[in-house]
Amino acid sequence: MNFADLKIIAPLLKAVQRQGYTTPTPIQELAIPHVLEGRDLMGCAQTGTGKTAAFALPILQRLQQNAGRPGKRLIRALVLAPTRELAAQIGESFGSYGAFVGLKHAVIFGGVNQNPQVRALGNGIDILVATPGRLLDLMHQGHVDLRHVEIFVLDEGDRMLDMGFIPDIRRIVSALPKKRQTLLFSATVPASIRDLGRGILDQPVEVAAAKSATTVENVTQTVYFVEKPNKVALLVHLLSRPEITRVLVFTRTKHGADMVVKNLNRAAIAAEAIHGNKSQSQRERILQAFKRGKARVLVATDIASRGLDIDQVSHVVNFDLPHESESYVHRIGRTGRAGLAGTALSFCALDERSDLTAIERLIRKPLTVATDHPFPSSIPVAKAPRLVFSSNKRGSSRRMPRRGLGRFAAR
Ligand code: AMP
Repeated sequence: MNFADLKIIAPLLKAVQRQGYTTPTPIQELAIPHVLEGRDLMGCAQTGTGKTAAFALPILQRLQQNAGRPGKRLIRALVLAPTRELAAQIGESFGSYGAFVGLKHAVIFGGVNQNPQVRALGNGIDILVATPGRLLDLMHQGHVDLRHVEIFVLDEGDRMLDMGFIPDIRRIVSALPKKRQTLLFSATVPASIRDLGRGILDQPVEVAAAKSATTVENVTQTVYFVEKPNKVALLVHLLSRPEITRVLVFTRTKHGADMVVKNLNRAAIAAEAIHGNKSQSQRERILQAFKRGKARVLVATDIASRGLDIDQVSHVVNFDLPHESESYVHRIGRTGRAGLAGTALSFCALDERSDLTAIERLIRKPLTVATDHPFPSSIPVAKAPRLVFSSNKRGSSRRMPRRGLGRFAAR
């Protein structure tokens, strides 16, 4: 599945490519078709799952395809976010994804001078991203006209509730047209969110992102610093552990997958590879062999592993680290399913250390470094920059910095 399969139009595809996204995340795959169809939607997804693009891309597409009225731009989409950081990041996303469509957006939030925001509104915008308090202020002052809103998004609904924004939201909703498309996103869906949804959504579809960066906590994650030529030997060494009963090994390329299988077979370890060059019947045979325990090791590429229904994998080995950190989360989500403990072992060569940094930033914790193995990297680990966490005293921010190290610091 890629973004073109989701019927995303060319200027948005171009922007998505420029962001370096190749594959839609699960919430994007699930939500985008419904949003494009104009359905109301309740999306259960945390930050970090790619939910912003799950609503921003189809909103940009719908606004682009149904031209607005000629004349001054009118607010046609409204996105409400609980915090100014989130609002700013959503605004940034609209800017990036909408780089090649001619739509304008603005972000308004409290705690700063309102004049630049009022000017932006006065110039005419298509998309408004706002926090509830400042939006109400500017509405009362007559700077905001919500009568032409076609699509309304309420992001982080549960946090809105926690922060006491519901009365504000009800007031804002009452200023919106009755006939509109509404999307509600929330990390959790307690009864209070269902109540809120009943009040603002019309026959919504419900979608949920199965796993996210923050729900892989029951997976023990270890990194092995190892040079590339020693990776096979390290894998063979690790596979001597009897507790590694059913292991999924990820490589970046098909060629890499075949190479690993050949080497494991040579070491008398039953392994099979599954990747795009295998026929459907081959894939089925290999999967059966793996599920029945005939092959203890299944080697796969990211693409081939999508949609594979494999349970009870004791270990995931990242023979190569993925370039996209989201893939890391998908990979390790294959172990530790249904509350079972799982283990993910990642091999990191010198040229993969930046991939590791990106992964640690996404999952918001450093991986445990394995020191007790026979093939340690000749370049001391301490010499390479590693992420450490500075304490987040408030402990409340679930957002991750998009650029720069933010609340991470390089040691
Ligand atoms: P969000 O949950 O919307 O805050 O997104 C989390 C992070 O994932 C952001 O840094 C996005 O830039 C990134 N992201 C969103 N969609 C994709 C995708 N399809 N592939 C790779 N990264 C993505």
